[in-house]
Amino acid sequence: MELNEITITKAIIERFSEKLIACTEVDTAIVGGGPAGLVAAYFLAKVGKKVAIFEKKLSIGGGMWGGGMMFNEIIVQPEARELLDLFDVRTRKYEAGYYSADAIEAVSTICSYATKAGARVFNCITVEDVMIREGRVIGLVINWTPVSMTGLHVDPLTIAAKSTIDATGHATEVLRVIERKTDIRLNTPSGALMGERSMWADRAERLTLENTREICPGVYVAGMSANAAFGGPRMGPIFGGMLLSGKKVAELIIANG
Ligand SMILES: Cc1cc2nc3c(=O)[nH]c(=O)nc-3n(C[C@H](O)[C@H](O)[C@H](O)COP(=O)(O)OP(=O)(O)OC[C@H]3O[C@@H](n4cnc5c(N)ncnc54)[C@H](O)[C@@H]3O)c2cc1C
Repeated sequence: MELNEITITKAIIERFSEKLIACTEVDTAIVGGGPAGLVAAYFLAKVGKKVAIFEKKLSIGGGMWGGGMMFNEIIVQPEARELLDLFDVRTRKYEAGYYSADAIEAVSTICSYATKAGARVFNCITVEDVMIREGRVIGLVINWTPVSMTGLHVDPLTIAAKSTIDATGHATEVLRVIERKTDIRLNTPSGALMGERSMWADRAERLTLENTREICPGVYVAGMSANAAFGGPRMGPIFGGMLLSGKKVAELIIANG
């Protein structure tokens, strides 16, 4: 059989369009495909929720590929190691309370679990705005990342979501838009974004989990975004809090129906 370039082209366009159309209305839209977003996607998809991750970069995985300073090993604590066991990511004990895993194996394997559970990943798409009705975020405004990179004058499209997770890491990009463009008060002590503080691994890991919650009607925060929103410290290259935060946010959304 001779391969036909036009058939290949049609197949790509049709299959991608099917996927995107199916995700124009989702139960949960996750902004950011780092460790927190990927783990949340897995646990939500596993219970049958329709989940889409929008990731602005070409690759998913966020900051996890590079471990610490591009030494591609991640360190987790015992509670998070149980999560890596569940994903079949191999870990090695370093000393009591510290386990290491290969960052590449961790990202690729967790992503595989999330997509096989049914989560859809849309890479190279940036979330640039939200839709609000009666004080609640009801969806996202999306565009191709190269549009914003090149400053092209191209209008975006929209996605309806019953809930949204800001898993954009340090950037807290969804929350920044909400703060800048809406009258919604965030569920932080100041009512606004509090910004991330200097490194303190132990405290930050605990606060990441505590701060993983609904931050305004329709929007949850997870991972580094949760710390940045609530004024928690950064934690350095330990990833247990990110993984556990992804699990917690999925549990909160499932519990809230
Ligand atoms: C350059 C760099 C340096 C870092 N240094 C530290 C450090 O010193 N200490 C520390 O604690 N943590 C640091 N981190 C973060 C660290 O990698 C995290 O601890 C961990 O990766 C955070 O996981 P996360 O899932 O919360 O977010 P991330 O892994 O950061 O993933 C967030 C994802 O969201 C995507 N995204 C952002 N905005 C949008 C948008 N508008 N639309 C769609 N997608 C979007 C990003 O492309 C990214 O893939 C650093 C991250 C980076 C990138």
